[in-house]
Amino acid sequence: MSQTVAPGKIVGIYYTLKDGAGNVLDTNRKGGKPLAYLHGKSTLLPAVEEGLHGKAKNDFVQLTLPPEKGYGVRRDDLIRQVERKLFPPGQELAPGMRMNRRLQDGRVAGAIILAVGDEQVTVDENHPLAGIELHFEITVCGVRDATSEEVAHGHAHGVGGHQH
Ligand code: ZN
Repeated sequence: MSQTVAPGKIVGIYYTLKDGAGNVLDTNRKGGKPLAYLHGKSTLLPAVEEGLHGKAKNDFVQLTLPPEKGYGVRRDDLIRQVERKLFPPGQELAPGMRMNRRLQDGRVAGAIILAVGDEQVTVDENHPLAGIELHFEITVCGVRDATSEEVAHGHAHGVGGHQH
């Protein structure tokens, strides 16, 4: 009997992610290597893992997720003014550049620069996929039991998983 996707299984998938207009945002179908993950650990978006639950090898799953179930809605308060002098001297700053900014609590926030003024730099710290309806097309290419080592590590090993 073939295995089905459930917590504790290592699941291999090929996926394509499109926005509402059909533009491909991300895919792993071209590289030839599946993504392998340990199901039930919120490695993927929870709504995606939910959609894969109970599926078997060769099943095809289409999911449409509103932003709330994807990477969140866009928040105006994540568009911030940062004093230019807080950036390292000599760092090139231009609209459209991606950067990582260390927050006061030590976390690193990804951001995109919107505007550069003499005193202030406007940055957008929303997730790049915030506010976007996500369309996933997923093919399950393998389901197997996780090894005890994989369970201990909380992730998949081998092809498509962690190599260490
Ligand atoms: Zn590991």
